[in-house]
Amino acid sequence: DAANKKHDVVIIGGGPGGYVAAIKAAQLGFDTACIEKRGALGGTCLNVGCIPSKALLNNSHLYHQILHDSKSRGIDVGDVSLNIANFMKAKETSVKQLTSGVEMLFKKNGVKYYKGSGSFVDEHNIKIDPIEGGEEATVTADKIIIATGSEVTPFPGITIDEERIVSSTGALSLKEVPKRLVIIGGGIIGLEMGSVWSRLGSEVTVIEFQNSIGASMDGEIAKTTQKLLSKQGLKFNLGSKVTKGVREGDVVKIAYENVKTGEASEIEADVLLVAVGRRPYTEGLGLEKLELDVDKKGRIVIDSEFKTKFPHIRVIGDVTFGPMLAHKAEEEGIAVAEYFKNGHGHVNYGNIPAVMYSHPEVAWVGQNEEELKAAGIKYKIGKFPFIANSRAKTNQDTDGFVKFIADAQTQRVLGVHIIGPNAGEMIAEAGLALEYGASTEDIGRVCHAHPTLSEAFKEAALSTFGKPINF
Ligand code: FAD
Repeated sequence: DAANKKHDVVIIGGGPGGYVAAIKAAQLGFDTACIEKRGALGGTCLNVGCIPSKALLNNSHLYHQILHDSKSRGIDVGDVSLNIANFMKAKETSVKQLTSGVEMLFKKNGVKYYKGSGSFVDEHNIKIDPIEGGEEATVTADKIIIATGSEVTPFPGITIDEERIVSSTGALSLKEVPKRLVIIGGGIIGLEMGSVWSRLGSEVTVIEFQNSIGASMDGEIAKTTQKLLSKQGLKFNLGSKVTKGVREGDVVKIAYENVKTGEASEIEADVLLVAVGRRPYTEGLGLEKLELDVDKKGRIVIDSEFKTKFPHIRVIGDVTFGPMLAHKAEEEGIAVAEYFKNGHGHVNYGNIPAVMYSHPEVAWVGQNEEELKAAGIKYKIGKFPFIANSRAKTNQDTDGFVKFIADAQTQRVLGVHIIGPNAGEMIAEAGLALEYGASTEDIGRVCHAHPTLSEAFKEAALSTFGKPINF
């Protein structure tokens, strides 16, 4: 018989939103439980998202570099070959270490972990349908956080079999390198997976409906990104609408047409990756029992304090509004735990960085030129190319630049956009600047170590008032 257990806080979903909220709530003194049905903690991000994709990106970059970029560095290598089974094993090891690490953190912080699928009975009771090794229970919660995340958005008319027609999940686990990989969608996930397989030898073609890649990237940065990825061998068909994708044996036949002219084309692939986005996931949650509002995109509707119509039920992460990013979900998890404890919490949505882990990396935070133009805000640009940076030159890794956008009058930093080596690490400095309301002069006056890539960051800040030293 189902045991009935009572907790102060119950979180449904153990992804970056849910598990961080659980740890924080426990640290704040709540008797806390987290329900997760996947069989592992960490959600999409640790299991089939951020972490496995970064493992493949890192190791495919290494492989590609050994093959194509070692001779000029005085490193002669013998036969180099890819062992795809071990390549995947390395990824799985990283994933396993991190997901079991979260389980350890739950133990350390006293978070009760229910392995099962949670479903609302009413606004305070949740039934847990256990997966293997889980316990049957109905839990009663004083406060509840919904953190059920997102799933792949299907493409109408295309059936994903995770073998020849794959989502990002299948693309993270291919058993061999496809000769031809076609990707629908030139967003971050499509381009990251395209980079991986292109480095391992696939001919990669990206078909994108919009006339630019990179979703919400600054326009100039997106153009440079496309140029650099093209140089690496990726092909782009922009302004193109896919009309068909069918598997015939071991081949996938794809048809698409030019959005403007209607001109039709066909292309064949060994693997087709559908990467047109993700959508909120609430299946089996029993939301209908509570009659919670869901918007047209399937997002659970909340107010600015993450509250549903029940003040004790709050929602975070991919299943509600805002960018679908792990660190955004985490910040919200912390904020909600603090709301529960103190009645206030805070997430600065104007300061959420985004990173694409291609090579070079692309990273940005704050506003881009297109947004500022639309808002009628006057701004100044400061740019510094990595070709003029000593460390980038030393590393023979000079593609890209740092771009500052500052208020025309006050020089307050409004946005920073970087394409270049280690952009994803460097963007944290921009986040600090934004949070503290820094001007570009503030940054230009901070001593940056030499020789480092971050000197390009400082010099780009100086460039907003026309005074870089090394360019
Ligand atoms: P999720 O991580 O989706 O977790 C929700 C969890 O809830 C899941 O584990 C699910 O099993 C569980 N669940 C759902 N319903 C129930 C239920 N009824 N009962 C019990 N459990 C339930 N973001 C980044 O910031 N950086 C990246 O580099 C990055 N790379 C990505 C690469 C790929 C290929 C993909 C697909 C995504 C990537 N993302 C990245 C996005 C990131 O993974 C998500 O934004 C993040 O995981 C959202 O966290 P979440 O906690 O809201 O939801």
